Amino acid sequence: MNALLLAAHDGQHLDPAVASAVAAALPLVQGGCVDILVAGHQMATVAAQAAALAGIGTVYVADAPALASLNAETLARQIVRQCAGYRWVIGLHNLQARAALPRAAALAQAAYLSDVTRTAPDALERPAYAGAVTTRVQPLTEAVFLTIRASAFAPVQATASLARIEAAEAVQADTRSRVTGTEAVASSRPDLGRARLIVSGGRGVGSVENMAKVEALADHLGAAVGASRAAVDAGFAPNAVQIGQTGKVVAPQLYLALGISGAIQHLAGIKDAQCIVAINKDAEAPIFQIADYGVVGDLFEALPVLQAGLRPQ
Ligand code: FAD
Repeated sequence: MNALLLAAHDGQHLDPAVASAVAAALPLVQGGCVDILVAGHQMATVAAQAAALAGIGTVYVADAPALASLNAETLARQIVRQCAGYRWVIGLHNLQARAALPRAAALAQAAYLSDVTRTAPDALERPAYAGAVTTRVQPLTEAVFLTIRASAFAPVQATASLARIEAAEAVQADTRSRVTGTEAVASSRPDLGRARLIVSGGRGVGSVENMAKVEALADHLGAAVGASRAAVDAGFAPNAVQIGQTGKVVAPQLYLALGISGAIQHLAGIKDAQCIVAINKDAEAPIFQIADYGVVGDLFEALPVLQAGLRPQ
């Protein structure tokens, strides 16, 4: 009943969400081992960070120049090289794992489940139909590959007793495609996936200029900025901040929805928020059905009141 976790990293730092993947794995292994696979080049720092997570048995490190820029095919090969004997092979529900794990599962003839939100040895849960339905799945194959929704699992903490670190044989790079470069969007705001506070604007915000007022409130509070798809499609906000079924799934302590109607596809991205506050001038807007607090009114009247009345965190 052992589990192998795929370490997500940027080359220097382990993604903190891997601690949530460990938390997802622990109920599955029932006292068995949770190991981590780190693949890349010059991975000593990332491996040490992985080894410090509570509950880890061994960190296997496939470190080679050929793995410096990993495409999905190469990473899939590396996973298959390492996964023999593991019942569970787990990644975050991020771009890289979503591309590599289904390939690896096909090569290993294993089951594949994506976006898992609850783990138990007999059944796993994952949302369907934009979160309107939760499916319980009982995998019947010997090995099961899955990606997990990090926000659904409380991360394990770091520990002083470090796990073993062992070298793993690196595979040959698959040369059918190669990553030619990545362009990170620089932002001083908190990452949406991990933000405790999110201020989000919808079509009701009306313009790029007005979105700047929403962003100013977010900056005042130290919050991340989000947007509905309608706001993104209208050009008020960049694609990277879209929240919902086809955007980011978030789980903040506070989600402030301004001029957002609450379409089911948007709600799919915010249902794990601990507290939702909605401001909308339409009292019948569906967002009020899930909001913890609602203000029926004009968001442009509310913005200066919020800016003056709320203290930065
Ligand atoms: P609207 O529905 O137009 O709502 C605007 C709201 O602003 C209204 O309720 C209005 O009363 C209010 N308002 C206007 N002016 C003011 C004011 N001055 N003060 C206060 N309130 C005001 N949507 C997403 O958000 N994320 C997704 O990931 C996503 N994925 C989708 C995937 C698919 C396959 C499909 C079909 C749709 C998807 N959508 C998604 C789109 C979704 O269905 C809605 O169209 C979208 O969420 C609507 O965005 P909105 O609430 O900003 O706009």
